Amino acid sequence: MKVLVINCGSSSLKYQLLDMKDQSVLAQGLVERIGLCGSQLTHRQGKLEKVAFQDMSSHAEAISLTLDMLMNSEFGVVSNLQEISAVGHRVVHGGEKFSSSVLIDEAVIKTINKYIELAPLHTPKIVTGIATCRKLLPGIPQVAVFDTAFHQTMPPKAFLYGLPYELYEKYKIRKYGFHGSSHKYVSMKAAEMLGKPLAETKLITCHLGNGSSVAAVKGGKSVETSMGFTPLEGLLMGTRSGNLDPAVVTFIMEKENLNPEEVNDFLNQKSGVLGISGVSSDFRDIEDAASKGNTRAQLALDMFAYVVKHYIGAYATVLNGADAIVFTAGLGENSVSMRKEIMRDLDYLGAEIDPLKNNVRGKEREISRDGASCRVFVIPTNEELMIAQETAEVVCHCSRPLKGRNVYAS
Ligand code: ADP
Repeated sequence: MKVLVINCGSSSLKYQLLDMKDQSVLAQGLVERIGLCGSQLTHRQGKLEKVAFQDMSSHAEAISLTLDMLMNSEFGVVSNLQEISAVGHRVVHGGEKFSSSVLIDEAVIKTINKYIELAPLHTPKIVTGIATCRKLLPGIPQVAVFDTAFHQTMPPKAFLYGLPYELYEKYKIRKYGFHGSSHKYVSMKAAEMLGKPLAETKLITCHLGNGSSVAAVKGGKSVETSMGFTPLEGLLMGTRSGNLDPAVVTFIMEKENLNPEEVNDFLNQKSGVLGISGVSSDFRDIEDAASKGNTRAQLALDMFAYVVKHYIGAYATVLNGADAIVFTAGLGENSVSMRKEIMRDLDYLGAEIDPLKNNVRGKEREISRDGASCRVFVIPTNEELMIAQETAEVVCHCSRPLKGRNVYAS
């Protein structure tokens, strides 16, 4: 079974075609600068790489070119599109409606569209991606895999804000959480590494990239996470502020004369470690500047490590102790110094890293000291594989008679 994974960003599109027989990646690619001048598609098949420069005004054109690439006589991997058994779409926001992946039909698209307000940059592009795939791959099942779905197991005491309850009822204002496919994937891997059934594990998963979130996962289910109503809440990130006193928002609006859209942009694009360091949103640049004595760059790194530590402490309490702490995503997988800083003085949790084992980048490895009661793992995330697996499961499940079965979450 070949599954095509489509991940539509605000101006980009990532794709992977996987063979589910052995979970191998047959081809993958990235389309950048969609809707801007100079758009390009980079396609990889094994060691071959093909870059196509072509102006693409929409995600529909990007998908059309992607399918052409997959069938290309030189770089392609299928001779006709019917070889693709299913398409899995990464959908950023599924609101409260979706607590698992679903087969896409008109009703599902209508519901996804209802959440446009909650992810206005991504959702319209995702809906275009789904519509284009349905048109160009008629009869091939399409599945929506939601970033928010994994966190739908959080209890109300964790997902509600201290606002009048009517606002939750009226507008569904609550914590949703994101990076669900990543937290789920690394939780499953961590259970394997612990040699325990997932249902018996207590894990703190740290997805630390440009966007970052921490989750408390009990028995394979998310019980708490740091991102909220939108991805802005929680840790300070590459360009996002993370947690603030909400009064700061109205104060900035008044002082800097910003309207809601502008303040949203300010908090999402100009804050975080970029705003603190004044150097970059990329942790590699910040680590480099800090090593040359830039004190604001060092402050950004210190603040980041401190806030991750805060969440680890809080979630260890939520879980009443943890079997493992997991580091994943660009920074979590690669930054030896950031992991060392975060893990400093967490011995009270039984979690101590071994400096030699910690000297690893982008590889699955246990980095805790021998005998540590709370183990520490580096696990490269694989959101695409998770999406492909969920897609295959939904398609196999739905190929059984649908009558009387509700594919929606209750
Ligand atoms: P996202 O998917 O949120 O865009 P990634 O998970 O790809 O982000 O992580 C990207 C970030 O990871 C980069 O901004 C960079 O800060 C960080 N990163 C990647 N490699 C390294 C490294 N070797 N050392 C430090 N930071 C790194």
